[in-house]
Amino acid sequence: MEDQSFPECQAQELFDEFVSASTCRAAMRSFSQLCEHLQLDPSTAERPLYRPIKRRLNYWRANGLWAKLDRRGAQEEYQRARACSDVTCVIIGAGPCGLRTAVELSFMGARVVLLEKRDTFSRNNVLHLWPFTIHDLRGLGAKKFYGRFCAGSIDHISIRQLQLVLLKVALLLGVEVHVNVEFKKLVEPAEDQHRHKLGWRMEVSPKNHPVSQLEFDVIIGADGRRNTLPGFRRKEFRGKLAIAITANFKNRNTTAEAKVEEISGVAFIFNQRFFQELRQETGIDLENIVYYKDDTHYFVMTAKKQSLLEKGVILQDFADTELLLSRGNVDQNALQAYAREAADFSTNHQLPTLDFAMNHYGQPDVAMFDFTCMYASENAAMVRQRHGHQLLVTLVGDSLLEPFWPMGTGVARGFLAALDSAWMIRSWAQGAAPLDVLAERESLYRLLPQTTPENMQKNITLYSVDPTTRYMNTSPLTVTPAQVRHLVDTGEEA
Ligand code: FAD
Repeated sequence: MEDQSFPECQAQELFDEFVSASTCRAAMRSFSQLCEHLQLDPSTAERPLYRPIKRRLNYWRANGLWAKLDRRGAQEEYQRARACSDVTCVIIGAGPCGLRTAVELSFMGARVVLLEKRDTFSRNNVLHLWPFTIHDLRGLGAKKFYGRFCAGSIDHISIRQLQLVLLKVALLLGVEVHVNVEFKKLVEPAEDQHRHKLGWRMEVSPKNHPVSQLEFDVIIGADGRRNTLPGFRRKEFRGKLAIAITANFKNRNTTAEAKVEEISGVAFIFNQRFFQELRQETGIDLENIVYYKDDTHYFVMTAKKQSLLEKGVILQDFADTELLLSRGNVDQNALQAYAREAADFSTNHQLPTLDFAMNHYGQPDVAMFDFTCMYASENAAMVRQRHGHQLLVTLVGDSLLEPFWPMGTGVARGFLAALDSAWMIRSWAQGAAPLDVLAERESLYRLLPQTTPENMQKNITLYSVDPTTRYMNTSPLTVTPAQVRHLVDTGEEA
């Protein structure tokens, strides 16, 4: 018998608060209040967690979401949440890709512990979504949490809204999320003072956080472009100098603003006349520009160095890009003026006011980033073995493959890698040999940089964690088990 001693209407209020929470902190707080009220302990309750919540919270608003999650959870690959039920996974980072991986693993019944070093989601910048990501997020109930999600033909979302939606789904599935906890390093298996054999653990900050006692079988680096997990060599792709500027302006949602047309990157890159006119009239020289109307008016553009020097944005010319774009060498006011002028010209002066939205530091949200060097990890996964304990280690998202923002490939390829990693963990959980698991993962990873919506399977409604539902050519494997031997680290000298 379920315990029904809690008043239902208060539970509904707490649930509503959780669904409409607009910050990471508020979502975490209202969820823990809801669980407390329903007398549920997320670390010990049945998984996925929303099932015991559902039994205690039966009203129309919640029911719409339960129906979505039930439909999703019925995918046969999840084996009714038993496909990974013996596995404990740690995920480093609550960016979109860490959260998406957490969601997939929870549907398969894994215990998922997610660490995030911050407790705010603050990035206004906007991500382009491929059709399958929109379908995927709708299936996870995105619209229930964020009513404006992909309304009409809109195919983008701000990074912070995406994190917020996925955080809520993850919490409902039972992911144990620890904010303000930073992963520091792996701790190898050992014996404790009572001669108990311990498995793989980790060192975190704050040092004595209970999660440092956790033993786990899988760890996933989803901590963005500066991956902190050792053992992954990075390939560098050095292209010609590419300086991207992002800018966010306040969206007051007026009729005049609503009328202004967005600029989708791909269509615009080739419109040479526009760029010539822009250069002649303003001195601004761009290679491309994208404009999305979201919570903010978001612009991302690739600017040529000479025009940044001429417009006084960059003060001194240096061959080294780090020096070139260093704080002391950039005039922030000139950068704001440059971004504002480019935004104004490219929208035909139709945006009535171009007031900057504020970033996390309370400053106008404009920034410059260097895309001259892009990084990708050489491998997607490895196995570490010490004293009879195996640990599967893998990367997802920007840690695995850094995206070039103006092309809008980042989060879609990030989600694909999240699903591919979850598939690998599923095989691992079901006892497949480590070399077979790694060979399949590396074969799929080789497909990722070339993947576009056009060369994937056409029926996105059939996409699942199984890669054959998403990629066209998954067999035969392009990487053999013999080729991944070096990815099993036994701690012995080679
Ligand atoms: P991220 O979104 O980078 O998330 C990584 C998470 O890990 C962060 O929340 C971080 O706090 C956490 N973390 C890091 N180290 C640790 C640790 N040791 N312990 C615990 N937690 C840790 N893409 C675009 O397409 N367009 C843009 O305009 C754009 N703007 C961006 C602006 C910024 C400032 C950044 C950082 C990224 C931007 N991106 C943009 C990239 C885009 O955000 C990513 O491609 C997308 O979010 C998927 O990334 P992810 O989940 O792999 O990593």
